[in-house]
Amino acid sequence: MSRTVYVNGAYLPEEEATVSIFDRSFLMADGVYEVTSVLGGKLIDFDGHLARLERSLNELDIPKPEAFDSLLEIHRELVVRNDITDGMIYLQVSRGSAGDRDFVFPDPEVVKPTLVLFTQSKPGLAESPVAQKGIKVISIEDVRWGRRDIKTVQLLYPSMGKMMAKKAGADDAWMIEDGFVTEGTSNNAYIVQGNKIITRALSNDILHGITRAAVLRFAREAQMEVEERSFTIDEAKAADEAFITSASTFVMPVVEIDGVTLGDGTPGSVAPRLREIYLEESRKAAI
Ligand code: PMP
Repeated sequence: MSRTVYVNGAYLPEEEATVSIFDRSFLMADGVYEVTSVLGGKLIDFDGHLARLERSLNELDIPKPEAFDSLLEIHRELVVRNDITDGMIYLQVSRGSAGDRDFVFPDPEVVKPTLVLFTQSKPGLAESPVAQKGIKVISIEDVRWGRRDIKTVQLLYPSMGKMMAKKAGADDAWMIEDGFVTEGTSNNAYIVQGNKIITRALSNDILHGITRAAVLRFAREAQMEVEERSFTIDEAKAADEAFITSASTFVMPVVEIDGVTLGDGTPGSVAPRLREIYLEESRKAAI
């Protein structure tokens, strides 16, 4: 069945939705995005995603789309029109189309940003059987640009990373810079030593995950010890547990790194508990 999507003020059947070939997200990856999960027809962590979107736009001097203040309403409308119970809403803002190709940013008074949203239906998203088993990751060099804190649509390397993982018989890749893990291809990375949760501190080196912020808050509220510091891939392989977080995977246990089994090869206790707390609290706060 055809989805109803949103493009620059209009709700359209997906076949009728178009963006210019001169759009700067197409020519130059000059755009930013957000992915917000839907559980039980409600939006998870919406305010966090909206705040990060505003920050990404500011960092790149992309003007706010006219509909910025209506984004909650647009998300909700798409959930209803597409009958989404569980799934995701993808949102992208690009600098727009100047009707030609030029490295110089167009005049924001003349060229308006392009705003696109669409839904992805994933029934049972939170009941993923994968979370029961955990995932396998490989490590790869992090060769991305230096502003990973901005959520841009430059996703070629993360996409290549997922393919490298797939080829190696794994589910995902953790990226390494100067010997230390930065993050997963589309998620933040954590290890557990005893009862301590360790994850890289926020900087321009990683995306400031909205799920990360919530999970660390819940962990601290549950009296778990949290240490925000860089860790090496060798430390990770020797850890008791490991996991990732993202808006669409929530908290997902990692049971193998570069072929090395963590603990007894099952998700352990900390990651599953955090997943449960995150899902319970997020469902309560969903809007
Ligand atoms: N790091 C990267 C590189 C990502 O692409 C993502 C998800 N888009 C995350 C971390 C997790 O962020 P969030 O929890 O906001 O989905």
